[in-house]
Amino acid sequence: MLARLILFGSVLALAGGLVAPTNPALAKPASGNAAPGSPDWSQPFPPHRMIGNMYYVGSRGLASYLITTPAGHILINSNLKTSVPLIRASIEKLGFHFEDVKILLISHAHFDHDAGSAEIKKLTGAKYLVMDGDVGVVESGGKSDFQYGDDAALRYPATKVDRVLHDGDQVTLGDTALIAHKTAGHTRGCTTWSLKVREAGRSYRVVIVGSPNVNPGYKLVNNLPYPEIADDYARGFGVLKSLPCDVFLGAHGSYYDLEAKYTRWKAGATNPYIDSAGYKNYVADREQAFLSELQNQTAGAKKQ
Ligand SMILES: [Zn+2]
Repeated sequence: MLARLILFGSVLALAGGLVAPTNPALAKPASGNAAPGSPDWSQPFPPHRMIGNMYYVGSRGLASYLITTPAGHILINSNLKTSVPLIRASIEKLGFHFEDVKILLISHAHFDHDAGSAEIKKLTGAKYLVMDGDVGVVESGGKSDFQYGDDAALRYPATKVDRVLHDGDQVTLGDTALIAHKTAGHTRGCTTWSLKVREAGRSYRVVIVGSPNVNPGYKLVNNLPYPEIADDYARGFGVLKSLPCDVFLGAHGSYYDLEAKYTRWKAGATNPYIDSAGYKNYVADREQAFLSELQNQTAGAKKQ
């Protein structure tokens, strides 16, 4: 998700499922020239193994995942430009080498998930693999984004993509294979990742949701730069509903209640990230939010 917290702090609960929309700190920019964002986007969060060879290496508010393999590692989401030292420290705290990141992926081309990519590529030499609809945005540093392209505060270093992904493509490294599912709408190349992991002799299907959220200000009707936006969202919900999911993850921890689940994880209970029902509820809730926003905008357009 990317939302202008400065302007839209009070409606974030609708847009992205942030848990504290009434917190007054969210309504103000952190400092004069800072890009908009929630303070928790930059707060450290304990790195930990979630399941199998998957680790959480993001901040409190912005998820990053490390998938380790004997051939090197895959990192999903580079987050803010300022997030890179934090991601690096999280990886090293877990006992892995940052330089072993061979493949960099993203949930979607918004600065809260991809602004650190240029720096990570430079430091690790990782290959950057991005879904077709997001490639132009990534390579223009956010300039060609259909919604935020004109806003200089939301730009980031333009980053060369090494492989263009298409819906259903597989990304493999070592013994791990991920599938890139295009769930567009939030961005043109918004990507939901799925993979299988093994834990205690069992296989689990992991889904990392790209973002099914309609941001404040998004036009679902008569959107000139992105005319097919509503159809893309609808198709994306079809994809999300079709994916079998044991382990529910996403671009922001707030999608799947990371903080509460981590507390349970620490207590050593049954792995809280295994949450098939939570996934189904989340997708159904977000689809309802999309449909009601579409209905409102369609009714509004008819009145004009
Ligand atoms: Zn976003």
